[in-house]
Amino acid sequence: MRSLIELAYLVAAVLFIIGLKRLSHPATARYGNRLSAVGMLIAIVATGLDQQIVSFRLILLGGVIGSALGLWMARAVKMTAMPQMVGLFNGFGGGASLLVAAGEWHRLVRPDMAMPATVAITIYASVLIGAVTFSGSAIAAGKLQEVISGRPVLFRGQHVLNLALALGVVGIGAALTVGPDLPALFAALIGLSLVLGVLLVIPIGGADMPVVICLLNSYSGLAAASTGFVIGNHGLIITGALVGASGIILTQIMCKAMNRSLANVLFGGFGATAVAAGSAERAKALAARGVRQISAEDAAMLLAYARSVIVVPGYGLAVSQAQHQVRELAELLEKKGATVKYAIHPVAGRMPGHMNVLLAEANVPYDELFDMDQINPEFDRCDVALVIGANDVVNPAARNDPQSPLWGMPILDVDKSQNVVVMKRSMNPGFAGVENELFYDRKTAMLFGNAKDSLQKLITEVKAL
Ligand code: NDP
Repeated sequence: MRSLIELAYLVAAVLFIIGLKRLSHPATARYGNRLSAVGMLIAIVATGLDQQIVSFRLILLGGVIGSALGLWMARAVKMTAMPQMVGLFNGFGGGASLLVAAGEWHRLVRPDMAMPATVAITIYASVLIGAVTFSGSAIAAGKLQEVISGRPVLFRGQHVLNLALALGVVGIGAALTVGPDLPALFAALIGLSLVLGVLLVIPIGGADMPVVICLLNSYSGLAAASTGFVIGNHGLIITGALVGASGIILTQIMCKAMNRSLANVLFGGFGATAVAAGSAERAKALAARGVRQISAEDAAMLLAYARSVIVVPGYGLAVSQAQHQVRELAELLEKKGATVKYAIHPVAGRMPGHMNVLLAEANVPYDELFDMDQINPEFDRCDVALVIGANDVVNPAARNDPQSPLWGMPILDVDKSQNVVVMKRSMNPGFAGVENELFYDRKTAMLFGNAKDSLQKLITEVKAL
């Protein structure tokens, strides 16, 4: 039986790896997801065959409740609230690792007898990473859901306190390795690790949240892998390692997309400082300049006669669920002879790959989606850039204003197009809370309104031309 279970874990691991590979392209992502789900089913069934399981009743109950909750959450969640849900799932993963490690500690601990160091260290590592992931993810989800303030919470001596806590946790772990039968100390280990998770995430806010979610995703993988070592489960070790590795790769991609080092994200307190004096002056001067508004009729005319159009989708497109309208408009323009391309910024929206998923849902052809590096050289040859509910990812302050919080973040070079039409509801800033000088550019025209309604009007007008 043991070798059958191990074989099943191997098959599951292969399915996970192929699934992950498929996830890297929108055209194969759905298939990859299904493949990985089959892998997970195999792993779960194989684990159920383990002879150490005494009773299936609680496992089945947990499975039914968990599956029902998961199904409901997956169906009910809004596309724009997906990062919070991913954050919660990471947290649950961390929490599960914490509970399994605590259960194993309880099972193995004997009065006046040291645990083998390797067992003890894996248990305490699992407790630490699991607890940090659990409480850190809860804070990250709360910030994104705006249940708690999204602004960074900074105070004097924060880093020293975090370091002291981390050293404290290591110290307790060492003490427990020597003499493990100290339940109060074990509870302190859990408590301090939970506090550490909270303290590590509260100073992070604003536009750095995507990186934190990816990093916590990686932590949840590490927690699962170390739990795999604790209970000697190869399936868990492999799955955890895959999640840990892909989470850290995604974290690195996100950091690069925002031109920030991981250390800067974790310790920088982005968005805490008031807007620098220079940037405030700049914002005032911009506001005095005023913006140029355009009607749907005029915008439709501009688009209908354009040879090349680049659509720049952002968070507002997801909010208004306008993906189907954008595809319809693009098809109309293509029929009129225009080339339509979509420029996808890696952090457009509220989660990695958000725009790809949204546009794929509306069956936008994959070969019309272009990454930032591919599309940026094309903006200066583009007749009209149609910015739909995007803001931070097209803010030239990232290039022009060293005092801007967005300074250094790679952006889509929309301001280099011949004409820019920006669709949003008001002059409100984007996620990073920064004024956008693109809106005040002479060649920019603002089409105010809910993106879906404005697109519908554009469709009607273009059809009438
Ligand atoms: P932004 O959040 O910068 O801007 C979105 C714009 O959409 C707003 O200015 C808003 O203006 C407009 N908008 C909102 N609702 C509507 C609507 N119904 N119709 C029309 N417009 C609407 O989005 P971007 O995509 O440009 O940038 C993403 C930001 O989110 C970045 O700062 C990124 O770091 C951050 N982030 C990204 C994550 C990721 O992984 N991708 C995760 C978490 C955060 P108005 O209110 O005037 O309509």
